[in-house]
Parts: sequence; C-alpha cells; structure tokens
Amino acid sequence: MRRRLLAANWKMHKTVAEAVAFAEDFLPRIAGQEVHEIAIAPPFTALGALGRALEGSGVRLAAQNVHDQAKGAFTGEISPAMLAELGCTYAVVGHSERRQLFGESNEFVGRKAAALLAHGIRPIVCVGETLEEREAEHTFAVLETQLSGSLALLSQEQPAELVIAYEPVWAIGTGRTATPAMAQHAHAMIRRWLHGRFGSAAESVRIQYGGSVKPDNAAELLAQADIDGALVGGASLEPDSFARIVHCDGTR
Ligand code: PEP
Repeated sequence: MRRRLLAANWKMHKTVAEAVAFAEDFLPRIAGQEVHEIAIAPPFTALGALGRALEGSGVRLAAQNVHDQAKGAFTGEISPAMLAELGCTYAVVGHSERRQLFGESNEFVGRKAAALLAHGIRPIVCVGETLEEREAEHTFAVLETQLSGSLALLSQEQPAELVIAYEPVWAIGTGRTATPAMAQHAHAMIRRWLHGRFGSAAESVRIQYGGSVKPDNAAELLAQADIDGALVGGASLEPDSFARIVHCDGTR
C-alpha cells in the first residue's frame, strides 16, 4: 500500500525565524504520528534552519523549485546539489504558479525532475488544468501533455521515487476544492497514463491532490483509492491547521 505524503507548500511565506517557530509549535502536535509521511517546503532561505529544526522528527525537508543545471551563470537559481547538501528529500517542480507566472514549460520541468533524481532528490511533479480547460472538456488532454513532457526523461526504473501532484489550477488558493469524486476521476486517469508509460511500476507512484485542502475536507479526499496524499498551501501555514490535516484518518 502506498504511504500517503502530506506536503506543506509555504510558497513565499515565512522568514527563517517564523519557519523555526512553526517547527517548534508543529512537531509536538504530530509527535508519534507515523501513518503518513510529512514534508515541508519552505522558501529557499529557510531550508537550512528548518532542516535543523526538523532533525530527528521524521518530517522531511522539501524545496519549492530547482534549476536543472549543475552550476553556471544562472543568476538567482539553485542547483540540485545545493538542495541535496541541505538535506532535501523532495523538491516540487512544475507548480502551476511557476508555469503561469514564470513561463516554465513541460520540457523544462522534465529536465528539473531528471536532475533531481540524479541527485537523490524525489521530484513532486505538479500537473493540473485551468478552469477554461476543464470547461472545454480538455482536462485529460492537458494532463497527458503535461505528464508526457514533464516525465519524458525518466527511465523505467525511476517511478518509485516519483510523486505526482494533481492540482487543478482553479482550486489553488481559491477555497474551491475538487469534489472527492472529481479528484479521484483525474487521479485514476493519471494512474492509467502512468501504467502505459511505466508498466506495473506505476502502482508505486504516489499521486497527491492539491487545491484548497483544509482540515475539514482532507479526510474525504484522502479516502479515495488513488489519492495518496496532499500538497497543501494556505492551510499548511498554521501549525494547528496543518497538524489537523496530518491527523486525518482517510481510511480507504
Ligand atoms: C499549493 O500551493 O500547491 C496549493 C494547493 O495551495 P492551496 O492549498 O492554498 O490551494
């Protein structure tokens, strides 16, 4: 059975001091919780200090982005080796905010995912349709294009290390959540696509749902057969709210 991964995406929130204060408040709230795997993706500036604050807790450190090149004249960018040195287990790539606001292509996302795997960091590859695409009934075509481009460089052996985050763009930060049935429908489609691409190894890939996940809707979403965790933005910023999500049962 796939162990669910609940990951906090803090986006451009929290200074170093705020990130450490979060850990001090959050960790006692989830002590002894071993059902789900937990990860936190703070801004780059807080990775070092948060990593130290999380030591020994079992909570994984994650980055929100990465560059695909090892080094060079890429002002403002961070390499996979830099993240590995800080102890990152995961890194998010292809978040819809990166795709929309910073023009990141599927091909670039694919190179990032491959570069992360080469450094022992597990990519959380985000895919998801806009409202216009959903209303035009293009959801599956959009997801297929994003998946094939973003996973183009992965070998047949690599899916065990891979996480997909299905995040319908219209549900991110809007308070509008996909119903559990809608989300499961998209996750099942993604699982089928992964089977076609990776064969039976697709069964080990965790597919997270993201988009206005909150303590009061998490259990119902996590109970779906192909929902293997959540990528949580707004509701992960407060220790109490993220801890309540972590404690969701979501028995399937
Ligand atoms: C996200 O940042 O990936 C996200 C899903 O945000 P929110 O939970 O705030 O919708």
